Amino acid sequence: ATANIGVVGLAVMGSNLARNLASREGNTVAIFNRSAQKTEHLVAEHPEAGFVATSSYEDFAASLTTPRTAIIMVKAGAGTDAVIDELLRVFEPGDIIVDGGNALFTDTIRREKTVRETGINFVGMGVSGGEEGALLGPSLMPGGSDESWVTLGPILKSIAAVAEGEPCVTHIGHDGAGHFVKMVHNGIEYADMQVIAEAYDIIRHATGYSPTQIADVFAEWNRGELESYLIEITAEVLRQVDSDTNLPLVDIVLDQAGAKGTGGWTAQTAIDLGVPASGIAEAVFARSLSSHPEQRATAGVLPGPDTSDGVALMDEPEEFIEKVRRALYASKIVAYSQGFDIIRAGAAHYGWNIDLGRVAAIWRGGCIIRARFLNRITEAYAQTPDLPVLMTAPFFVDALTGAQNAWRNIVALSAAAGIPAPVFSSSLAYYDGLRAGRLPAALIQGQRDFFGAHTYKRIDREGTFHTLWSGDRSEIEAVDTH
Ligand code: NDP
Repeated sequence: ATANIGVVGLAVMGSNLARNLASREGNTVAIFNRSAQKTEHLVAEHPEAGFVATSSYEDFAASLTTPRTAIIMVKAGAGTDAVIDELLRVFEPGDIIVDGGNALFTDTIRREKTVRETGINFVGMGVSGGEEGALLGPSLMPGGSDESWVTLGPILKSIAAVAEGEPCVTHIGHDGAGHFVKMVHNGIEYADMQVIAEAYDIIRHATGYSPTQIADVFAEWNRGELESYLIEITAEVLRQVDSDTNLPLVDIVLDQAGAKGTGGWTAQTAIDLGVPASGIAEAVFARSLSSHPEQRATAGVLPGPDTSDGVALMDEPEEFIEKVRRALYASKIVAYSQGFDIIRAGAAHYGWNIDLGRVAAIWRGGCIIRARFLNRITEAYAQTPDLPVLMTAPFFVDALTGAQNAWRNIVALSAAAGIPAPVFSSSLAYYDGLRAGRLPAALIQGQRDFFGAHTYKRIDREGTFHTLWSGDRSEIEAVDTH
């Protein structure tokens, strides 16, 4: 046995992660893939990596020093279970199996429980950054036991992205915590991409700027508080010209957004936990709306506002664009705030001890939502670790105060002009909902009591009450069944 780490699954992610591992001092990497061609190909293409190629699970296990440590990078779902079964056959108590695929965290909780019974450690690990991240430095979100972290920590720190001198990896929490946090990362990513898309759409419709001009706007924004990977690549995409037609590529690409499911999982989980993550959910729904051609074929049926004279801009284009920037920034703050609220609620529900500030810190490099802004989140939780709503931290309150008039203007203008801005507008509604002293939830409680005798509480005294709606409408004290 010569290898200190192994990788199973050598498609795009696994082969790049294996190369990343091999490039770090002190690592010898054993590799295995179900179909042997991928293993042979990787070895032939990268002799410099010094891989220990194996062609059976027995060989793979024999090539690893103990405690054996293997990272699985296969198609999430049945593929993961199949590989775990094989590894359990050849591994021994104390060994470590890491699943780096995009597993649903509840699957990870289940797998961890089953594997733990054999004395083998199971670590579900979120990996972000795509192909390039896997090769050059991803953001890594491992869950699993403290014992596995002792062995894994140094290896993972050596391959992770580095942001401001710190490796973008931390032990998130036990069992499914790592995959949970990766899932929420992706949910935030959906919302971040959608608010950028809404900003582009509003600017384009309202000012008539070309995609190239809007690319310049995004490049400029990337020099300020919005600086992030997603803003940077948005400028690149908008600048791209299709070589066949000479038209902007963004006008040639079919406008139906794909999704692999992690955004939907985040929204579902938020609903299960009772966390209002409306911006993330709207971003998921915006993609689903885009990808139903049969529903969108009805476009001509539904009337819109009369915009025959164009969209009435109240400002010069530069001032208008600055307002859109502020609306984008505010909506983005809401999306991140909701995402962190989901993590906080998940940690409480599943009993994970998650350091929210550290989560923001390890997203500063390697991953898709990497941004300067994340430092502010780390600072907010450093000041108030149990902040109930992230955006109520002083920095974000100031930012939202500076943005809110512009935000309201842009949402109003979009509504008047008939430009869909689901995340801009739902985020603003969420903001106003949090601000409201009283909500019409009181009326909902009245309705619930009317049709279902669901009872209500009063603001002026303790107890649970019911009005005799179909009787004399007097109020009685109800027996609290909870
Ligand atoms: P794929 O998701 O396309 O999976 C292909 C790999 O899975 C191949 O190595 C394949 O082996 C193996 N595999 C599938 N089924 C089985 C099985 N039953 N038994 C053994 N091996 C099996 O590969 P990617 O590299 O794109 O992704 C790997 C994982 O990383 C996935 O879980 C993905 O969700 C996750 N991920 C992907 C990111 C990305 O940007 N692409 C980012 C972060 C995570 P074979 O060659 O024999 O078919």
